[in-house]
Amino acid sequence: MTLATYASDPAQTRGRRFAATPAPTRSEYQRDRDRIVHSTAFRRLVYKTQVFLNHEGDLFRTRLTHSLEVAQLGRSIARTLGLNEDLVEAIALAHDLGHTPFGHAGQDALNDCMADFGGFEHNLQSLRVVDELEQRYPDFDGLNLSFETREGILKHCSAAHALALEAQEPDGVAQRFLASANPGGVRLQPSLEAQLCNLADEIAYNAHDIDDGVRSGLITLEQLREVELFEGFRREALAQHPHLGDATQARRLLYEAIRRMLSAQVYDVIAATGEAIALAAPRDANHARRCGPLLRFGAAMRQQSGTLKRFLFQNLYRHPQVVQTTDLAKQVVRELFAIYLNDPASLQAGFAARAARAPAETGQVARVVSDYIAGMTDRFAAHEHQRFTGKVFPGMAG
Ligand code: MG
Repeated sequence: MTLATYASDPAQTRGRRFAATPAPTRSEYQRDRDRIVHSTAFRRLVYKTQVFLNHEGDLFRTRLTHSLEVAQLGRSIARTLGLNEDLVEAIALAHDLGHTPFGHAGQDALNDCMADFGGFEHNLQSLRVVDELEQRYPDFDGLNLSFETREGILKHCSAAHALALEAQEPDGVAQRFLASANPGGVRLQPSLEAQLCNLADEIAYNAHDIDDGVRSGLITLEQLREVELFEGFRREALAQHPHLGDATQARRLLYEAIRRMLSAQVYDVIAATGEAIALAAPRDANHARRCGPLLRFGAAMRQQSGTLKRFLFQNLYRHPQVVQTTDLAKQVVRELFAIYLNDPASLQAGFAARAARAPAETGQVARVVSDYIAGMTDRFAAHEHQRFTGKVFPGMAG
């Protein structure tokens, strides 16, 4: 792997929170990736909703398969741009670790529940998972990942949380979210590898949500004709392979159009980013953080990707059938939160102990409850809800 001068170099890492002896055969970022893959939170991703609830079908994306697709796209682009593939992979595999059960519905509900206690942010929660909630090492909590991986995981952070994090870890991963770190309003960026993961995330979900949306029957190929980015490649695929016009070949046609769409976006990012990097000429990885966002689509692709995103929002994420299940999911999260907050002893042992140690009136018990619920898989949340309330939501518990 030949790294560009602006790539993150594991030999130059800003290090870990707890000193560790280097591994004999692996770079720091390979080691981060391995720690993430072996974590409990990573295994839970397989039972967490991306868009469709986990029980709705075996072939829909889950948080786990989504994360693998982000890693694949990210690595592919990283290699061409001379960025660090291992760091990209570590960030991509960890980027959704903090997601609640039931996808965005669960997250919105938990954020509402936590309104008086500092709110719930899934990016911050992903950092909490790797910094505190995983407990598998003898002498410290968390996975003790390197700065660069943690920086990439903390994609967004509110000002209030950034201040709190900065107090615990001066000049740490939250620093770039503080106004004081951005003189003249030029926002510090994370590494190019982290920027790449954000874009790979968007490319991945736009494509796989078309696939899952059509598979579910909630959106049709006919409807997709209004989306220029998809329709252009559908027509191109059909022109080259006329037999795909047969109704029995609809799925092959869908895959071929998506495949072309993915490739076009990857090549577009490589070209547009290559130009931006050439223009900004970052000397090294740190200088690249001061050059504004360099990972990007070209203008035309940016606009087309936005149109596709809006289409999916209106026709899939807001589809009455999706909204109906999300309403139930919100109810499960809200009611579980109230039950545990009212009786923290009913939390799982480790969390109950944490709640018992938390000082009264500080909102820390609520944070323990939030951590517990956020870690749940869809199925476990539904089972717990059923156990406490006796309510059975058809299909919810799988
Ligand atoms: Mg994601």
